[in-house]
Amino acid sequence: MKLYIISNRLPVKVANPNDTFVFSRSEGGVTTGLDSLETSYEKHWIGWPGICVNKEKDKQEINEKLLELNFHPVFLSEAHIRNYYEGYSNSTIWPMCHYFYAYTLYKKCFWQSYQVVNQLFCDEICRLIRPGDKVWIQDYQLMLLPGMLRKVYPELCIGYFHHIPFPSYELFRILPERAEILKGLLGADFIAFHTHDYMRHFISAVERVLHIDFKLDEIQIGNRVVRVDALPMGINYELYHNASQNPVVRQAIDRNRTLFGNHKLILSVDRLDYSKGILHRLHGFSSFLEHHPEYHGKVTLAMVIVPSRDHVGSYAELKTKIDEEIGSVNGRYSTMNWTPVCYFYHGFSLEELTAMYYVADIALVTPLRDGMNLVAKEYVASKCDNTGVLILSEMAGAAVEMTDAIQINPNDSGQIENAICQALEMPAEEQKLR
Ligand code: UDP
Repeated sequence: MKLYIISNRLPVKVANPNDTFVFSRSEGGVTTGLDSLETSYEKHWIGWPGICVNKEKDKQEINEKLLELNFHPVFLSEAHIRNYYEGYSNSTIWPMCHYFYAYTLYKKCFWQSYQVVNQLFCDEICRLIRPGDKVWIQDYQLMLLPGMLRKVYPELCIGYFHHIPFPSYELFRILPERAEILKGLLGADFIAFHTHDYMRHFISAVERVLHIDFKLDEIQIGNRVVRVDALPMGINYELYHNASQNPVVRQAIDRNRTLFGNHKLILSVDRLDYSKGILHRLHGFSSFLEHHPEYHGKVTLAMVIVPSRDHVGSYAELKTKIDEEIGSVNGRYSTMNWTPVCYFYHGFSLEELTAMYYVADIALVTPLRDGMNLVAKEYVASKCDNTGVLILSEMAGAAVEMTDAIQINPNDSGQIENAICQALEMPAEEQKLR
């Protein structure tokens, strides 16, 4: 029997730089989290390969290569990417679920494309599955898919995991297609969220929009029972905990130590996204530098920002503002031998990333909203025999579990400033204990 994981993106992305297809690992929490899933089922993955190709010959070449890894591509056109992905998924659902009401766009063509692409995924699944197989659908790009599949296969075992926050009913109700979305999700047998609060919001939305009541964590839909639960996503702990024993990581650790000298290193790692509070973090760090000249020349903030969704207007604007803010902080405080913010606008390999986690004295994780935030967990796991402090926004799903982090409200730059001071001065014993 097979387990089919269905997500918008496959865990690999395909590029075509010099007319040859190049395959590399894709970044993001869904990929890194699920990639490490161990299961007795034969694991298959269905998703978009990250590239638009028109020629049948190219599709076949990509198909054959991916099939070796049990990956099955769903090919999307540029119009799909514009309307289903950048449109309905990332300009309607994403801002709404992250409480960025003012960023939410509604266009008929977005919704139409969202329905078409969910149907494309449904067709691909129907082509592949056999009796007894299980289907596990991932995330907000595919919320209609459980319902579509259920119509074709009334008996199929379908799970759905929502990787981002599920907002309060008061916000969810603004969505014109709220009923269709909820009915789509209820096509699954089991629907899971990162936290109990997201689950509670979902239950309340179903009860108010569809007027069907839950009995605790269950709801009867026709002759089926749908269950919901809160299952916070974890990481492959051993992978991060043992990373520093890998010779490639060791080399990177030595290189980082030479590069940052005996400066205290604060690390932040995110995809470019307004929900990640990157500007708020910079304001907090700037305020720390302004009020604590004694730390000038002694503390460096390394910011790793992975390019993401930069065709969406709000993301392109954010990138410009981040560049300006970093320029402003560095322009104001840099000396001949110290640059306060060290900025990387590209993805890191797992080895480079774990080496950064290992040497960083502090991880500064300040999302305004985040479904979970795996970086916070990876940072702590990467600390095997050495010390480190996690500063974590209370708006991240991870904050529910990681109660020994220094928790802050990212809207208060004074709290970020104080947390940095507390982390810098925290005795090693307390760091280990936390
Ligand atoms: N990541 C990566 N390379 C990078 C930066 C990040 O592979 O250069 C990974 C990181 O290890 C983490 C994921 O991307 O597993 C980000 O997940 P998170 O839950 O923090 O945020 P998301 O991007 O899913 O919103």
